[in-house]
Amino acid sequence: MNASPTPSTSKRPPRICVFCGSRTGHDPVWSSLAEAVGAGIGLRGWDMVFGAGQIGLMGIVATAARDAGSRITGVIPSYLMTTEVVMRDLDELVEVETMIERKIEMSRRADAFLVLPGGVGTLEELFEVWTGAATYAHEKPLVIANTMGYFDGLLMYMEEVRDHGFLDDQHLNQPVVVRDLDAVFQALEAAVSRVG
Ligand code: AMP
Repeated sequence: MNASPTPSTSKRPPRICVFCGSRTGHDPVWSSLAEAVGAGIGLRGWDMVFGAGQIGLMGIVATAARDAGSRITGVIPSYLMTTEVVMRDLDELVEVETMIERKIEMSRRADAFLVLPGGVGTLEELFEVWTGAATYAHEKPLVIANTMGYFDGLLMYMEEVRDHGFLDDQHLNQPVVVRDLDAVFQALEAAVSRVG
């Protein structure tokens, strides 16, 4: 994936691309996290890009961001428009042909990426962006909200990958991994300050 170039930020607020579950998970803490993240994005005057879905954590984070003043862009393949619950009142709905184009368009519009708990779709997006950073296709910051250690197992496995010699420390450490909400926003503030 080549996520560059990012459209200039000189005339617009920073845009955060959020990857997260199309489900809410069992623990209500994930929904609370998504709501607080969305509200925090909006309160900072940032905009948001995501997969356009109304469902799960995706819908919660986008609704909270929009309610707090963010401009929300959703990107979705046309063939999913009929089967998916697309969020209403998006500021911009970008229709693409394929899931691959969706990731490219989400990434192109983003200044930084934030990964919240989710399933295979979220993990696939995380690895797409991580791979892009590792292959120097882009230099956009990637923040992982490892709240309650949700990603501990994955990150431990990635250390094993490093220990087996398939990944070096530089690339292992590219994502900024944080645990609590304050740290999420510290990391994002540092990220967006670099793109201004
Ligand atoms: P998952 O983690 O498997 O629930 O997938 C959610 C992630 O993949 C989101 O960040 C979306 O960008 C994308 N995605 C997967 N399924 C959907 C869906 N039904 N509606 C919208 N986006 C989805």
